[in-house]
Amino acid sequence: MVESTKYIYDFSEGSADMRTLLGGKGANLAQMWKIGLPVPPGFIITTEACHKYWEEKDFIAGIWDDVEAAVARVEKLAGKKFGSSENPLLVSVRSGAPVSMPGMMDTILNLGLNDDTVAALAKSAGDERFAYDSYRRFIQMFSDVVLEVDLEKFEERLAQARENAGVKEDYKIPAEELKKLVVDYKKIVEEAGCTFPTDPWVQLRLAIDAVFRSWNTPRAITYRKINNIPAEYGTAVNIVTMVFGNLGDDCGTGVCFTRSPSNGENKLFGEYLINAQGEDVVAGIRTPVPIASLEKAMPEVYKEFHRIAKLLETHYRDAQDIEFTVERGKLYILQTRNGKRTASAAVRIAMDMLHEGLIDAETAVSRVAPEQVEQLLHPQLDPKAKRDMIVKGLPASPGAAVGKVVFDADEAAERGGKGEAVILVRPETTPDDIHGLFAAQGVLTSHGGMTSHAAVVARGLGKPCVSGAESVKIDLVAGTFSVGGVTVKKDDFLTLDGTNGDVILGKIELIEPQFDENFRELLEDADKISNMQVWANADTPEDARRARSFGAKGIGLCRTEHMFMAAERLPVMQEMVVATTTEERVAQLKKLEVMQEEDFLGIFEAMEGLPVTVRLLDPPLHEFLPKIPELTKALEGLAPESAEAKKINATIARARELHEQNPMLGFRGCRLGMIFPEIYEMQARAIFNAACKLTKKGLRIIPDIMIPLVGTQEEMKSMRKLVDETGAAVIKETGVKLEYMVGTMIELPRAALVADQLAEYAQFFSFGTNDLTQTTFGYSRDDAEGKFLGQYVEMGVFEENPFARLDRDGVGALMEIAVGKGRSVRPGIQLGICGEHGGNPSSIAFCNKLKLNYVSCSPFRVPVARLSAALAALGVLK
Ligand code: PEP
Ligand code: MG
Repeated sequence: MVESTKYIYDFSEGSADMRTLLGGKGANLAQMWKIGLPVPPGFIITTEACHKYWEEKDFIAGIWDDVEAAVARVEKLAGKKFGSSENPLLVSVRSGAPVSMPGMMDTILNLGLNDDTVAALAKSAGDERFAYDSYRRFIQMFSDVVLEVDLEKFEERLAQARENAGVKEDYKIPAEELKKLVVDYKKIVEEAGCTFPTDPWVQLRLAIDAVFRSWNTPRAITYRKINNIPAEYGTAVNIVTMVFGNLGDDCGTGVCFTRSPSNGENKLFGEYLINAQGEDVVAGIRTPVPIASLEKAMPEVYKEFHRIAKLLETHYRDAQDIEFTVERGKLYILQTRNGKRTASAAVRIAMDMLHEGLIDAETAVSRVAPEQVEQLLHPQLDPKAKRDMIVKGLPASPGAAVGKVVFDADEAAERGGKGEAVILVRPETTPDDIHGLFAAQGVLTSHGGMTSHAAVVARGLGKPCVSGAESVKIDLVAGTFSVGGVTVKKDDFLTLDGTNGDVILGKIELIEPQFDENFRELLEDADKISNMQVWANADTPEDARRARSFGAKGIGLCRTEHMFMAAERLPVMQEMVVATTTEERVAQLKKLEVMQEEDFLGIFEAMEGLPVTVRLLDPPLHEFLPKIPELTKALEGLAPESAEAKKINATIARARELHEQNPMLGFRGCRLGMIFPEIYEMQARAIFNAACKLTKKGLRIIPDIMIPLVGTQEEMKSMRKLVDETGAAVIKETGVKLEYMVGTMIELPRAALVADQLAEYAQFFSFGTNDLTQTTFGYSRDDAEGKFLGQYVEMGVFEENPFARLDRDGVGALMEIAVGKGRSVRPGIQLGICGEHGGNPSSIAFCNKLKLNYVSCSPFRVPVARLSAALAALGVLK
């Protein structure tokens, strides 16, 4: 007999490791049930059922008997009956994907209510107000989620009910007024052309259908895209006995993080509302009170909650985000999940838990994602700048944001998408605003707490957010907000400090970020785990110092041509480039040599004790050629036969001669050294002189000299000889002992293919994957990105731009060949990468597979690379 697939699991049948099948919420509810925590009875319809739902028409009908049986089991546990007009069981129906997507999909509470059951509920609870409050909520939520009736009419009518009753808060509306509200709510549904189902079983079926449907709403799709969540996951449906936080003042509901999701501080961080249901807390309509005050309001409940929160944290060995409800003094846990957190909170929580002995160093390091490190390196507001603070809200998501005020999510998405810096200002945000939040620099809301939608989403996106700035009065129609006598218009500049909640009028200067102790320690642990070192690409002593302070263990690429870009040097360089005789060239080179030696002295000193890889000149020649229009202009007014005019004309002729159609494939790299050896000789001498001078002073200098764009063995052989001879002369002259290496970049497919031949002369290889990508694809690295690569990515030709993320199949395959061939000739050959990919997490993971010795990237990416290298070694990053 073929066993039929099981699509429904009771809580007692699941566990935390079943999240793929049961979704995160379901798996954790089952786990909490298992360890005896107070979870209301319920069951889960699996994510596999979601797949079937999208494949098969009428799938839900096919599993209906099982749903009925599961409800019957819940009825038994809850001691209530679904649809009964005596002691009715009400349920919540909530979505739950394998990874959490806060607020992205749908929830229906109080399902099972109709005109009969509401009366029974009023009777059994002894509270008519509560019963009708639950009923009106149910009609509103069900109509929104299932029937897709516009919410606005319900909100208007609710506001009217408050007015009729002369109260400000929903929970103060009396029963009589709520009864009228329910009648009118049903009318709104009818006017929208829908029928509100009165049969609880029909309600349940439609709700399950809506949850499955919600997996493919535009907002869920956008969220998945932003967060790289595969569409194949699907969502489970959780059907759980309702417990009520809206039964009076000994009831309430809240959400709580076991540690601060904002800065990681180890204390309960949450908020709750008395006499309310779950959606009131996250919707941002009522601003909830901090969890600490629960200790006074309900001391016993607080004690129990504190115990469970710590227990869950120890159980999951991670900071938890918990939803709870208190019904008549009894605490229920409705959900727990690993709490989303900002980058700085992630670092602090990981390191604190490591120190507390809760997790090991490997786990601590893998708790931080490379993208989060980028957030830590975001600029901060200059603390010395004058702050024209207009209001202080809640510090909901840290960091600094500066931009122009916009009030509409669509507009924020459009303008932000075009690169304009905008700040989204809203009374509160909803999941439909996600695209605007994503494109804005930061978010300001006048309502909602630290766990409001805006706060949660902003933290997830690493965007600064100030929420709950209640005194901000927003006029969406006029496009203004006012606070404390100041009126701010659309397009005015605003600065947010999400770290402390300051809202500042105008623009504030930003400064470079600082490393804190936890982050330093985390990266040191990462270094111990990594198989590869992280070096930096640095051309100046200042860059070298920065790289070293960020933890670089060497310089993997010092581009010497950049040294000649400075205003006072460029003319000398140009004279050298256009020189027609060796003497002329040598005369200019002498001047350049003095400057070069200075440069190297500075860099070597900054990197004392660590290797510095200096690449000999590789100028795409056109960058150094004098501009012909400028020369022609300089000729104006000069007598044609004058010496000056003659010189200019000669330069023009030489510039024309040197002009190339394809400079990137032209007279570059070692080709220059082959044709004009005096250039490389000068550079080698400057390097050796600087290194020997410092060595003489007692510093440990480790220079490695790198030959660019080598494609043949002969090039490598001649250049090595030239460098060695120059070195030998300087070393002899200065009488110091200096160890150095001469190696090459692998940046041409041919170099990769003949790497064994090159390794006979090259003591190290460094993959120049910028050029290697350019020459492997035949795409100009200067043009392709602006011309067609963007569209290629959109069309799906590439998942990502191959100049940013290494193309493993092509460029990577060449690297693999080069690694194999290089090692076959020189087993211990030092291997590294210095193209831009050296700072890209996925590319770093690939380098780890090839067992390179180091990756080298720009100084600011060093921390990201250090973490990525560790994650690659742990197999977390593949
Ligand atoms: C490379 O080609 O990857 C490289 C590092 O050299 P450059 O970017 O200077 O050409
Ligand atoms: Mg290159």
